[in-house]
Amino acid sequence: MSGAAALGLPLDGLLEPHPNRVELTGPLRSLGFPNRCANCGVVTSERLPVRKVFGRNAGHRRRTRSRRYRGYRIDTALVPYCGACIAQDARERQSMASRWGARLGGLLLRSFPALFPLGFAVFLLTSVGPASAASASGEGTGFVGVLALVFGGAGVCLIAHAWWDTRRCMVPRQTSVTLAFDFSPDVSDLLDRSQRRFYAIRDPAFAEAFTALNRDRVWQPDPAAVRAEMRVWIVCGVVLVIGALLAAVLDR
Ligand SMILES: [Zn+2]
Repeated sequence: MSGAAALGLPLDGLLEPHPNRVELTGPLRSLGFPNRCANCGVVTSERLPVRKVFGRNAGHRRRTRSRRYRGYRIDTALVPYCGACIAQDARERQSMASRWGARLGGLLLRSFPALFPLGFAVFLLTSVGPASAASASGEGTGFVGVLALVFGGAGVCLIAHAWWDTRRCMVPRQTSVTLAFDFSPDVSDLLDRSQRRFYAIRDPAFAEAFTALNRDRVWQPDPAAVRAEMRVWIVCGVVLVIGALLAAVLDR
């Protein structure tokens, strides 16, 4: 059972084929945007932070695909939208209360294991601690104190992890407004120097202006890089085969 499924949120995020889809290299933060609303095309200088949750290994095409839950990341793009469209997004957006509700549910579920070390720490401090103190052995109380600290610390770490792992509940689902400019997870390959994403844009004019502004970042397949990656895989394969042969020979 994956943690992603437990919270009912998709973690893939690869975009469907789209008429205005462009593949760009480089981080989200460095994108150039036209000063126009991505939804309605009105001139604007306002930006709306659009957050999306992606599985940690989502998008990497050649990495081993595993159904195991490996955590997630939250990526943010600052997309130009006009005031009216930002207000429309706020109306469509999941309420803060429902997001907190989902987070608190997950938080309680994930914090449950912390009860045991915390309970044990309290037990040590309340029942064993005073007894040792009464026996007037300073060493005993010190040891019980350290033990209580270790168990208490473990409990606090479990709760902190639960808090960290439920951040994604606070990311609202996309609205008709934010879907006007959608982005995929990083789809870069093993040896790529920078990340790479697909962008799907509803308005053809905005797509054209956006692509023109980021012209130097439009991704082109580089045969040399593909060959280099192929060599890495071949070397890995050869090393594995030699290792297996050596193991078989030595095992005789
Ligand atoms: Zn607008």
